[in-house]
Amino acid sequence: MLDGYGRQINYLRLSVTELCNLRCRYCMPAEGVCKKSHGDMLTQEEMIRAVEAAAALGVSKLRITGGEPLIKKNILSICEQAAAVNGIQEVCMTTNGILLPHYTKPLKSAGVSRINISLDTLNPEKYAHITRIGTLSQALDGLHAALDAGFDKIKLNTVLIGGFNDDEIVSMAQLTKQYPIDVRFIELMPMGHGDEFTPGAFIPCRTVLEQLPDAVPQSHNGGAARLYRLPGAQGNIGLLSPVSAHFCAGCNRIRLTADGKLKPCLHSREEFSVKGLSLEEMIIQFRQAILSKPACHGELSHTSRSQAGRNMNQIGG
Ligand code: SAM
Repeated sequence: MLDGYGRQINYLRLSVTELCNLRCRYCMPAEGVCKKSHGDMLTQEEMIRAVEAAAALGVSKLRITGGEPLIKKNILSICEQAAAVNGIQEVCMTTNGILLPHYTKPLKSAGVSRINISLDTLNPEKYAHITRIGTLSQALDGLHAALDAGFDKIKLNTVLIGGFNDDEIVSMAQLTKQYPIDVRFIELMPMGHGDEFTPGAFIPCRTVLEQLPDAVPQSHNGGAARLYRLPGAQGNIGLLSPVSAHFCAGCNRIRLTADGKLKPCLHSREEFSVKGLSLEEMIIQFRQAILSKPACHGELSHTSRSQAGRNMNQIGG
């Protein structure tokens, strides 16, 4: 389906939970999130119905996210049923990787073909600091498990934080030489708990290129990231710059939160509820949400905060 600006919307990001086993400082409060009542969240049946509604309007790619999707008890069954929906051609997952060693094989069997792992640092102390409760070795075990299981095009997502990990840009990028993975640097978005960082913590993606003079631009594959490659590397460096150079003109996505709200744009407050609806009613809501997608996410800058009205864990990054 085309939105009001002629963009084809074929990508749904489905958040299956707001809860997480980490507490990343830019994403969540230290105490975690207030668990909402069961009745306020989408049931598995409703999630699958929503995927069917999206597929009926032309969505073919699904990303399962959260919160942390792998802490959801019925995650394998959700993936399996979502992958079986007519029209869904690709099911991917974004995870912090902590639980991946237990899940790679069953996820593959359930139809998940691609995995993105979030990793902001290779330093154990810094990892414990930024995640508040995480252990770096567990995340790295997750990466190795995904590699061993043979997932296609594994991506590491690294949020750039000035004064925290800008001294690790080169070492993170070197991982593309060591492993057949892409490393993607993402600008810190001023939203939710991202706000507690000083404006100085925001560093634009061009900083990455300044530190990687050998990086060679790759032809654009239509995704949101600008791609580069280091000589001899097995994977690409991706730059995602939602703040300094937004990629809204090519936006092909719509998001569904775990409490059943369709978000036409990550940084807009507008939401359309699908909780409790029939398939036909959901299709109407999806259509409305797609037609309500704004041309771009407006005033977002490193000093002007997101209007999303939620933390990332409540939207699905
Ligand atoms: N728990 C999973 C994970 O860690 O990948 C999935 C959910 S997490 C919200 C998805 C992504 O959002 C992560 O890569 C995280 O780094 C990113 N994220 C969260 N808050 C952000 C912010 N303020 N700016 C940029 N990226 C953010």
